[in-house]
This record gives sequence, C-alpha cells and structure tokens, in this order.
Amino acid sequence: MSEEKLPNRMENFSDWYNQLVLKAQLADYGPVRGTMVVRPYGWALWENITAALDQRFKATGHVNAAFPLLIPMSFLQKEKDHVEGFSPQLAVVTIGGGSELEEPLAVRPTSETVIGHMYSKWIESYRDLPVLINVWNSVVRWELRTKLFLRTTEFYWQEGHTAHATAEEARQETNQMLEVYADFSENEAAVPVIRGRKSESEKFAGAVNSYSIEAMMGDKRALQAGTSHYLGENFARAFEIRYLDQENTLQYVSTTSWGLSTRFVGAIIMVHGDDQGLVMPPRLAPYQAVIVPIYKNDAEKSSVMESLQSVRDSLSQLRLHVDAREEVTPGFKFNDWEMRGVPLRIEIGPKDVQAGQVTVARRDTRQRSTLALDQLPLGVPALLDQIHDGMLQRAREFMQSNTHQPADYQEFQQVVESGWADVWWCGDADCEAEIKADTKATNRVIPLEQPGGNGVCIHCGKPATERAVFARAY
Ligand SMILES: [Zn+2]
Repeated sequence: MSEEKLPNRMENFSDWYNQLVLKAQLADYGPVRGTMVVRPYGWALWENITAALDQRFKATGHVNAAFPLLIPMSFLQKEKDHVEGFSPQLAVVTIGGGSELEEPLAVRPTSETVIGHMYSKWIESYRDLPVLINVWNSVVRWELRTKLFLRTTEFYWQEGHTAHATAEEARQETNQMLEVYADFSENEAAVPVIRGRKSESEKFAGAVNSYSIEAMMGDKRALQAGTSHYLGENFARAFEIRYLDQENTLQYVSTTSWGLSTRFVGAIIMVHGDDQGLVMPPRLAPYQAVIVPIYKNDAEKSSVMESLQSVRDSLSQLRLHVDAREEVTPGFKFNDWEMRGVPLRIEIGPKDVQAGQVTVARRDTRQRSTLALDQLPLGVPALLDQIHDGMLQRAREFMQSNTHQPADYQEFQQVVESGWADVWWCGDADCEAEIKADTKATNRVIPLEQPGGNGVCIHCGKPATERAVFARAY
C-alpha cells in the first residue's frame, strides 16, 4: 500500500497496467521467471469469474473432472499440427524419483491429448455420447516475456472437451460455448465482445475451425478473451476415439474444446480501468461495496458503528467489506478503494446517522448521492445494476467509435495504429502475412455477423466475400 500515483494511463498504458496490478494487490511475480502469484484480491475476482462460468457450463449439461498434470511426450506427438503448435513452449520432466525416466513427460500445455487417450477407452457405443467434460486447472507454456495475467508461464483456466456422434452436433456445441463466453463477458464482466471465426493462420493448431470473442482494451488493442474450437475428427483419428453407431458401424467421434483463462482478469483491468485505478464490474467484484465509517470522537463512533451494523444486516446478500482501520483517515480509504475498483463506497458519518441515511459514491462515474436506510435493500442492488449497464455501454461506445471502416490500404495502415479496422478481406494467408508485416495488425476475427454482399480485399484488391477485423493485439 503506497500513496505513489499511478503512471498516466493514456501516455503509458503498459506501465499503468503493470503497476496497477501490483499496487491493487491482484498479483505479484513468482520466484521462477515468468510465473505469477495470484494474491487474494485477484483470486477472489477469478473465483467469481469461475463461479459465473461454471454455473453456465452446468446449465448446458457439462460436468467437471480432473486429469493428470504429466503427459507422456508420445501423446503430444500423435497429432502433428498440435505438437508443432506447442513444442517451443513445452516444459518437459526427464527425472522422476531420482532417476532418468524412460519416456520424458510434458507438463500439460493443455489436456487435449490425455483426454483424447481416456475418451478412446471410455467411448464404445453411441450410447456413451455425447461426453461433455470441463476441467478447471492450470497449464504451463514457457514464456520469455512476462506480463501478469496476460502472459505468464503458468496460468489458470478451464478447458472444456466434448465428444459427439456427429459433426453437426459438435459444431452446435462449438457455437453454443462461444455464445456462453460472450454472454458471460457482457452480462457479468460488462466487457462487450465481437464473436467470430479465426483465420487459418490464427486458429488453434489441430482445429478445423477456431472461434473467439475479441474485446477492445483501453489502449484500443484487441484481446482474445475466450476461444471455442471445432476439432472435427482430427483428435479422434489421432487417438482412435471411435464408437459403434446404431447400425453397428464403427465411426469416429467429432470433438470440440473451449477455454477461458486468467487472461480475462487482464481484460477487466484494461477495459474498465481509469486514471484512478481499477473499476471492477459489480457482478464479479470481490467486494461489491465497501463501508467506510466516519467519526471524530467516541460518542460519534458509537452511533456510527451502530448504524453501520444495521446497514450490514440490510445488505447481507451482497459482498461487503467494512474498512474499520483506525490508523488511516477516511480520505486515504476513499483513494485506496477507488484504486482497487470497488463499485460502490458507502460512507456513514454523524450527519448521515442523524438523517437516517448513508452517502453512496459510485466508482464508475464518481457521483455521490444519499440513500435512506430503509431504501438500502432495494436501492443498492439497483445501483449496482445501473453501474453494470453504464460500464457496458461506455465500453461498447468506445469499441464502436474506435472501429473504423477505412476506404483504402493507406487509410487502413493509419487506423490500425490506434484502433480496429473492419474491412473486406480475401481470406488469403499470404495477404494476411503481408498486412501483419506492414502494420503489426493481425486478423482478429471474421465476425459471425456479416453484412452480406461482397467487395474487394483492402490489401490485395482480390474479390472478397467476408469482412474481417484487423487490429494490434495482446
Ligand atoms: Zn487480400
């Protein structure tokens, strides 16, 4: 806890982010380069993210399970594209129990292969399908440059892995989970997203099609906030996952996988944060409101604390924190909780006690108002909903006003320096690579929502039937 000011957000977004994560006590650097320690305040946010997602996964028929951390190297080599995608980032165990292992073991970069192996044992008949399993765990992908929550060697996530009798069913599952992520993002985190399909060069190695939700950060760069992959029969063929259909014919299953990670915490920080610090979305905030008692002497303290207790009782359905620290001033507490992004501050002073009210201050707009004590049980939740709606709308307007439709490639190069470009694109990988080399902007998604019709590619001028979003990305 220090009173040093944060770096200016617009001038140095990256430093602002790095220092805010530390100062708000969301996370810290681990002793092994590239690793992250998630501190209780950051973990509380992640726990609320996991709860909101887990409830949605279960409502759509999924169940949770756990798979081993260590994976035989041979498993990763079974799917060629897959191993090529991960090999530079693998951590490999060669010694166990004091002796050299016969076969090296990879620390899971994802559980795809070990789950494929187990599904080949568990699935025999059409009656065993679909298999709808999700796993909450951490995975390791060796990183040389660390950015807390965005790029760390070990990160936390969920990975869903499903197996289906038909390609059609697996495609429906892929779409359904993309929609679950978009719904979570907008209705829990107040982070607006674009849903779309990844280009061939940006998709997950081993997938037939990858889909993602993309969000615009406060510096106008894009962040892939969740992904859903249709894997076709690729993993089923590599791991021999087959079933007997109703005609007694042996068929390959079609599989999907989908994931959302602690990167999403980075998205919340970068979408909503401002010069004062974090702005937590009310439905995920570790504390939805902080109560600050204000008094000058023991007599005031006694009446203020009495009122505080009744406020607590009437808001028991919310995640509340009472800041009763004696060694710091109320003003210090205001700044501290603003920096840590608590959506609502409830102040109770002698004047409030006399008037039978509290003073409430919104973190998002910094507006202050009063609420009568008997209005609290309905008034505070309503205010939290207003904060959510306001944050979502503000972020949506920011994304819309910084998404451009340049007329030619020259204008395209200008707009992607600070914003997104929504353009006709030919679909050619070489064209995409040239755009990236020229501008550092990558193809984020080919949005699911297309205007129809056709045009010419913004870069090469060839005929184009789809629009794509290009941007610099995290
Ligand atoms: Zn082109």
